[in-house]
Amino acid sequence: MPGKLYLVATPIGNLQDISLRAIENLRAVDVIACEDTRHSQKLLNHLGVKKKLVSYHEHNEQARSAGLIEQIAQGASIAVISDAGTPAINDPGYRIVQQAIEEGIDVVSIPGPSAVIAALAGSGLPTDSFFFGGFLPARKGERKSRLRELTDIPGTLAFYEAPHRVAAALVDCLEELGDRRAVVARELTKVHEEFIRGPLSSLIRQFSEQMPKGEMVLLIDRSTARFSSEIEQNTLSQRVSELESTGLDRRAALKQAAREFGLSRSKAYRELQIAKKS
Ligand code: SAM
Repeated sequence: MPGKLYLVATPIGNLQDISLRAIENLRAVDVIACEDTRHSQKLLNHLGVKKKLVSYHEHNEQARSAGLIEQIAQGASIAVISDAGTPAINDPGYRIVQQAIEEGIDVVSIPGPSAVIAALAGSGLPTDSFFFGGFLPARKGERKSRLRELTDIPGTLAFYEAPHRVAAALVDCLEELGDRRAVVARELTKVHEEFIRGPLSSLIRQFSEQMPKGEMVLLIDRSTARFSSEIEQNTLSQRVSELESTGLDRRAALKQAAREFGLSRSKAYRELQIAKKS
């Protein structure tokens, strides 16, 4: 009889955040595959679990998966854990799950903490529909074009972000998405847990004075674009004309109208082009 592949969620900070089922499973399996054996050994010591650990990380994922799947095929049960949270969510796990499915091996997901879900739940932004984009690209140009692709997603946007990049990412979000409501959820489940809420522009001001520390999730409200119809596009166009008639030049009028409509300048410009053609 083949064994099973278990994906076991572990804490994202507070060591109490692990389910009874997860602990039981870690005790019962034959092998635990983890990203960093020294890191996971500390958790297992805390839980009083003595088990063989093998390393399974992004650099050996492909090669290691085949060996682990072979062991499962011969009857071993294997748990995959990551350094924190749910394996396979921005962490190793996806490949071994794929290979297990190909080999007809049962995959069991033992749920628990994941930073994106904890952040979304406490953010105060809509939770009915959301898009998780992992880490945004580190380079500005790539980051901006990725954000442009996500402009019209009808749900809350969620990203993992590094503290030294969050201010730059927020600036790009403001430029590409407009001044939407946003939340930085940092150090979740830890002593300094904090939700910092406000429009993108105010978070930028705050973070330019002091860089936030620790692990964080960045969440941004869905598009507030109201341009599902021609009439609405014309409303933007009318507002730009009105502002121009008060003496603003075209560029300044577009900038102000975009802000009033909760749009980025580039999105407002595109909408005006569409309105002009129709
Ligand atoms: N698999 C993990 C999960 O399910 O959440 C995510 C792993 S990913 C490599 C690590 C990133 O998750 C961090 O850089 C940070 O953006 C986010 N993260 C992890 N723990 C967090 C915490 N306690 N508070 C806020 N964000 C956290």
